[in-house]
Amino acid sequence: MNRRALLFGVFFFLITVFLFPQDNKNPRLFLIPEAPRPGEPVTVILQGEDAQSAGLQAVLLRGQDRFSKAAFFDCDLGEGKSIKAALLAVPSTVLPGEASVRVERGKAGEEAAFLAEKPLGIARRDFASETITLNESLTRIRTESDPQKTAEAEQVWAIFNRTGNSILAEGYFRAPVDSTRRTSHFGDRRVFRYSSGKTGTSIHAGVDYGVPKGTRVNACAAGKVVLARNRIVTGNSVILEHLPGVYSLYYHLDSIACREGQILAAGEMLGLSGATGLATGPHLHWEIRVSGENTDPDTFISRPVLDKKTILEIIK
Ligand SMILES: [Zn+2]
Repeated sequence: MNRRALLFGVFFFLITVFLFPQDNKNPRLFLIPEAPRPGEPVTVILQGEDAQSAGLQAVLLRGQDRFSKAAFFDCDLGEGKSIKAALLAVPSTVLPGEASVRVERGKAGEEAAFLAEKPLGIARRDFASETITLNESLTRIRTESDPQKTAEAEQVWAIFNRTGNSILAEGYFRAPVDSTRRTSHFGDRRVFRYSSGKTGTSIHAGVDYGVPKGTRVNACAAGKVVLARNRIVTGNSVILEHLPGVYSLYYHLDSIACREGQILAAGEMLGLSGATGLATGPHLHWEIRVSGENTDPDTFISRPVLDKKTILEIIK
């Protein structure tokens, strides 16, 4: 009788071990927020995955469509806890409806191994339209092919595709100018009327502040200056790196007041606004990239994209 009870016990123990593996081997996935709008960043948190972050990525997808992806990085939360996080963006072109975030591990060229997946409801969002008329010289800047322009575009893409591991800016971001006067919004569907009579379309990647030439432009959060130079299309330009894969961009400046490699504090002046490059008048173009995708800068002002206190609460 005793032996039978013992066998029974061993049997149930084994069943339990197989059906309910220990928590630390079963990664837990959290998404903040769970119902983002197109153009918003999503903080992906993975807890209980012991292996290293290298090769680990989060993918936003719907069926066969993969909309965006982001590499994971290690994030020490203090209190002896650490997680892996990835900052993912919902592109402004994604239609509302159910989508999901999948965590995979893999090397380039190999099939990725599935780790975890969670649904993500994309909310509805409407964007405004605008038409911009360009004179002959601005038409030329926008439409003429130029090896220098191509090289400059490749240089910024190399920056956007890089996911570092320094966490320089936690918490809320702030607006880069004191003015609230905006002349273009994030995600505006644009039609360009060229001097030739032809037209072209694009989606506005950031926010335009209609400020006079010489207005002080400040870092929207603490960050490292990864680009500070003149470019054909964007004029005098500054790019700051704040978090792994998160960059803020400041275009058409009249002058630059920082140098590449420098670390700026939140609110520190980086230049003065102007109308250099492809600009129909003085304004500041402010943009935020998340793992290569342009995202709505306002969401960074209203909600921290990486806030350790919030994450500690969520994973409790
Ligand atoms: Zn702009």
